[in-house]
Amino acid sequence: MSIERVGIIGAGQMGGGIAHVCALAGFDVIIEDVNADALGRAKSLIEKNMHRQAARGLIKDDLVEPALKRISTTQSLDDFKDRDLVIEAATEDESVKRKIFQDLCPRLTEKTLIATNTSSISVTRLAASTDRPEHFIGLHFMNPVPMMQLVEVIRGIATDDGTFQAALEIVKRVGKTVAYAEDFPAFIVNRILMPMINEAVYTLYEGVGNVDAIDTAMRLGANHPMGPLQLADFIGLDTCLSVMQVLYEGLADSKYRPCPLLVKYVEAGWLGRKTGRGFYDYRGEHPVPTR
Ligand code: NAD
Repeated sequence: MSIERVGIIGAGQMGGGIAHVCALAGFDVIIEDVNADALGRAKSLIEKNMHRQAARGLIKDDLVEPALKRISTTQSLDDFKDRDLVIEAATEDESVKRKIFQDLCPRLTEKTLIATNTSSISVTRLAASTDRPEHFIGLHFMNPVPMMQLVEVIRGIATDDGTFQAALEIVKRVGKTVAYAEDFPAFIVNRILMPMINEAVYTLYEGVGNVDAIDTAMRLGANHPMGPLQLADFIGLDTCLSVMQVLYEGLADSKYRPCPLLVKYVEAGWLGRKTGRGFYDYRGEHPVPTR
């Protein structure tokens, strides 16, 4: 089926980034969020990032204004009734996502495809909470979406071939590369990445090194572009914790147990860059380690 009209649920770092690349690829985009401020922030960030890409010569100048015009925002899922595809990119919490699908499905046409950008939750289980498991798929974009080349594509047990082919087409049209992953907890990237981040938090928790030493060690000693704690702040500590919980429960193996210090940061609301504080404090001119 031909996909031209895309709806995106969640205007956070991922929803905004997905809207950005979809609009540049020529899709008509509506972003929905329960939080009006998040919608405003997403629109201005998309505008800033597209202009920055143009200034760096990564995209043509004359693509920016038409792409921005293709993006609108709403607080009502009623506006999704003409969408060909809806991409869900709301908070990584299964009950939140299930409730969204319950509200969303009766508003869609029969043919509308649904994709989830979940980092870890079972696509099959999320699909089963909709009225169209055969038209449901995982499209896992990476953060920051405009810069990162990969999209993991995850079929649920019921996903049909048409939906799978449509997903591959979308990834191609936004200029990204597919890695196909089976529907197991956290798929490929986060199955490998998150235990490393969790281990970095344990290393901090046990006093093996402080924030600066751990990040410096992994940047200079393992040649990672960012330290694991810096990366955790970038991803969002709530998302990191949630992925670890899904791995721990889904694979029933104690090696995935979330570090208590990660839990404590999340309880404090220190979620990383998005809240101004995490393993670093971002409220001043330069990030300052919090431990
Ligand atoms: P975020 O916290 O930046 O944004 C989440 C947004 O969802 C918020 O704006 C919130 O208001 C909105 N939201 C919450 N409940 C909602 C509802 N009922 N209806 C509509 N909007 C609602 O989170 P994020 O980092 O953008 O993550 C979103 C999704 O993308 C999660 O599933 C996450 O696992 C996944 N993901 C995150 C990353 C990452 O690096 N952060 C990478 C890949 C995938």
